[in-house]
Amino acid sequence: MTQSVVILGGGTAGWMTASYLRAAFADRVDITVVESRRIGTIGVGEATFSTVRHFFDYLGLSEADWMPECNGTYKLAVRLENWRAPGTYFYHPFERMRVVDGVPLTDWWQKVGGTGSFDRDCFLIPWLCDAKASPRYLDHRLFEQDFDEDPDRPLYRTTLAEQNTQFPYAYHFDASLLADFLCRYAVGRGVHRIIDDVVDVRLDERGWIDRLVTREHGDLTADLYVDCSGFRSRLLGDALGEPFVSFQDSLPNDRAVALRVPVDTAVRGIRPCTTATAQDAGWIWTIPLYDRIGTGYVYAADYCEPEEAERVLRDFVGPAAADLEANHIRMRIGRSHRAWVNNCVGIGLSAGFVEPLQSTGIFLIQHAIEQLVRYFPGTDRDPVLRDTYNLSTARAIEGVREFLILHYRGAARADNDYWRDAKKRPVPEDMAVRMEQWQSKLPDNDTTYPYYHAFEPYSYVCMALGLGGIPLRHPPALDLLDTRAARAELTRVREQARKLVDTLPSQVEYLSGLR
Ligand code: FAD
Repeated sequence: MTQSVVILGGGTAGWMTASYLRAAFADRVDITVVESRRIGTIGVGEATFSTVRHFFDYLGLSEADWMPECNGTYKLAVRLENWRAPGTYFYHPFERMRVVDGVPLTDWWQKVGGTGSFDRDCFLIPWLCDAKASPRYLDHRLFEQDFDEDPDRPLYRTTLAEQNTQFPYAYHFDASLLADFLCRYAVGRGVHRIIDDVVDVRLDERGWIDRLVTREHGDLTADLYVDCSGFRSRLLGDALGEPFVSFQDSLPNDRAVALRVPVDTAVRGIRPCTTATAQDAGWIWTIPLYDRIGTGYVYAADYCEPEEAERVLRDFVGPAAADLEANHIRMRIGRSHRAWVNNCVGIGLSAGFVEPLQSTGIFLIQHAIEQLVRYFPGTDRDPVLRDTYNLSTARAIEGVREFLILHYRGAARADNDYWRDAKKRPVPEDMAVRMEQWQSKLPDNDTTYPYYHAFEPYSYVCMALGLGGIPLRHPPALDLLDTRAARAELTRVREQARKLVDTLPSQVEYLSGLR
């Protein structure tokens, strides 16, 4: 029996959902996207997480297919500047920890010291970022060879469930170009597109959505409605009245101001990472695309006025910001109590959002879509599927929330009310216990958030070591163990890194070749 789906919203969430469902279900599910010309998309959302490659893989798209059309670049890490103190920086790379004699290399590093910068001592990727290198050679080989990239492999597509190794990069792209690209992909494969406003939502006697009323295209009906209407949450929040769980008490940043800055990347080079630079009331993102920089100040309105935030951002960018128009955005931080209610599932900003400090918006969309495919159609036939979906998506965003709280609690910065107050905000009870544990032993599988949320223990380790505000000591057992193998591994990291920096092309060179 053919099922039908109507998706309200044509932003990143709407078109990612439409194209993925089409790739999954082909014409066994009839899909319509309705999007307004009057109501714009959020217009930001340009950095991603390393899991995003599974999304493109599932759609059967290679990097050469989509990256040039979306001004795509590689992202190997997040570079955090000024979180410990002005002038300092460290990387959170997409690179798993090496283990020596059963002990993570960063634990050894605490004991034997290295050169004093844990990221460059223990990981390769920080070196590639500093060198503005490409993660691929000009013949397209990846700098790490752990991944099966055989183009002739059998017909099977990967999902987040296959992320059993750490792929070393994610992407930056122009979010509106990606939405256009995915729109063409989906419509070219049979998804219906309606450009119109949904002006009313009618419920049936059970409180389920009966139909969407549009301004010019009459009523739209479906078995399942997907709310991708952005922060408005037109179906899930407005029509169905599902309560919203705010995270504002622990993550107070609720505004952003953004600029699109044209640059000559051939001259400037493209550092393959997102940079998050701490400020007096939040932080500024710098996202290098192929032809411009996306930048924005995420801040808390309780500590900074919008005019002040814009001025800080313009000063940060310098003369290149002079004639650019700033985009001011209010953010709703938290999640819908349930993301899937009756015959309506919210995906994207309509269902929840945490500030973009680790670029998790699109990851949470991808995760939600994969869960939707798994539990589809989840309507009245099997409410357990819906409940399982709700548990899985809520756990993912709660985990991301916990990881982000760590950035503020763990930052050594405490030079004004914003940063001092950050240390006093409530943290989830279990997290408070975990933070105690990290002081005696760096985070590991037993002492990090236990449910899938994409971040692995090594990410927590990088934060604990890089942010500098958590007192840490190495486990006493290391004083009794032989350190020779660990010292040799630290030397090996350095040698491998130097060789890579010498042999990899620059990101500009590689991406120019892809075009
Ligand atoms: P929107 O882009 O707001 O789209 C909503 C759609 O709904 C539009 O097409 C609109 O026309 C339509 N619509 C709404 N109401 C109606 C109606 N009544 N009738 C018809 N159509 C309607 N994520 C990342 O992964 N990485 C990042 O670096 C990142 N940075 C971000 C920075 C900021 C400041 C913010 C706020 C978010 C960021 N995000 C990031 C999140 C990311 O932008 C979003 O998750 C993503 O763009 C999805 O948005 P959306 O499609 O849910 O909503």
